[in-house]
Amino acid sequence: MESGGRIVSCGNRTTHIAEEMIAEFWNRMAILSDDDCWLWKWGVSGAGYGQMRINGTMWFSHRLAYALVNGPIPAGLLVCHQCDAHYAPGDTTYRRCSNPRHLFLGTKKDNAVDCVNKGRKALGEFHRSAKLNWVLVRQIRAMPHLGNRQIIDLAKELGIAANSLRDVLHYKTWKEEPLPLTTRVSA
Ligand SMILES: [Zn+2]
Repeated sequence: MESGGRIVSCGNRTTHIAEEMIAEFWNRMAILSDDDCWLWKWGVSGAGYGQMRINGTMWFSHRLAYALVNGPIPAGLLVCHQCDAHYAPGDTTYRRCSNPRHLFLGTKKDNAVDCVNKGRKALGEFHRSAKLNWVLVRQIRAMPHLGNRQIIDLAKELGIAANSLRDVLHYKTWKEEPLPLTTRVSA
């Protein structure tokens, strides 16, 4: 019985993932509140990232979670954790976290696998001349609280007016989320 599912793109890899597999994926992490880390409960890589075999290849749980919720991950970009700061230095537990709200895109230039607190920098580098799009809007909203000075600086980096950025932050614009957390299927 073929029904629904999702096409997922992670860098250069694109695959169709069946609905049952997506449900199984979310089942393999401890989903708590929106704000908590959703720690992967199954196998992890040598570095401590959640892993799951889908359609014959291994996927990192945080990358798959990001792609399922936010859409394709552009080739060459990393999916980074912003929740690492909540753990003691050296504690890599956060790598198992697959809560999409804790994840943001970063560039390899940011160098560390951990992308520690590089969110703002990555955003500016990657989107230096970008206009707003959903990936960017989500990244902006996932960032730690921005002060007025930071809003002005970031807006300048993004090439948009500070007030446009405030509208995004206050959900006055970009209100509709196009992708639900999981896709409902009607058989
Ligand atoms: Zn987390």
